[in-house]
Amino acid sequence: MVDLRGVYKSFGTLEVLRGVDLRVRTGEVTVVLGPSGSGKSTLLRSINHLEKVDRGHVSVDGELMGYRRVGDRLHELKERDILRQRTHIGFVFQSFNLFPHLTVLDNVAEAPLSAQRRPRREVYPVARRLLDRVGLADKADAFPRQLSGGQQQRVAIARALALDPKLVLFDEPTSALDPELVGEVLDVMRDLARSGTTMIVVTHEVGFAREVADSVVFMDDGLVLEQGPPAQVLDAPRHERTRAFLSKVL
Ligand code: ATP
Ligand code: MG
Repeated sequence: MVDLRGVYKSFGTLEVLRGVDLRVRTGEVTVVLGPSGSGKSTLLRSINHLEKVDRGHVSVDGELMGYRRVGDRLHELKERDILRQRTHIGFVFQSFNLFPHLTVLDNVAEAPLSAQRRPRREVYPVARRLLDRVGLADKADAFPRQLSGGQQQRVAIARALALDPKLVLFDEPTSALDPELVGEVLDVMRDLARSGTTMIVVTHEVGFAREVADSVVFMDDGLVLEQGPPAQVLDAPRHERTRAFLSKVL
């Protein structure tokens, strides 16, 4: 489903991704761990082409992100075509990023209505089903500010699912939440994983990784240092850097 080969990305002189290789199979959950500044968010943003990589390539479901191959040359896609590619990828941020002036239901319905121009009579029943799925059917008419952080993040997850994505990316979805609200968001993510959604999750929740991940990736200093099943990476890491990191977060 996701294939990164030799991906490099710098900001000025700062090399943030230094040759990342990563493969994620359809239906699998990959958890990405790593210290602050190791390039985890940049990696996620590169996958949906919010960051344009300097070298290497990113493909999602067999499509090269941001480019079209013509013979042996790559042509950059137009903004409109990049936006179309992005509609297949859901993104959940640390800071929820809901539209404050829209109700919960309208937040979930917004992308299918405006990006896909689908009719309201089709979109609203789907949006309601998604709210039901994240346990918030009764909050459809509330505004984001009236919800707890955990509820807002569950709305953000419903919104990320509204375009029926092939892949959902999560960037530290629980790290802005009070500890007692983390569980309800992880529960929703666990359900999604069980239903076969392909997910890449940046998180420090090692318990979630152990229980839900098919694959755990440890990133350090712009590289994937190791990748494998949770039991291997979490319990028998090969690299000293992974051991040192885990001893801090466990
Ligand atoms: P954290 O765990 O703190 O979220 P991270 O692993 O997600 O860290 P990134 O956000 O990918 O790390 O950032 C990696 C490095 O790239 C950091 O040093 C950051 O300051 C730098 N960086 C990220 N985005 C930009 C940008 N748009 N311009 C300049 N530097 C950037
Ligand atoms: Mg980050």
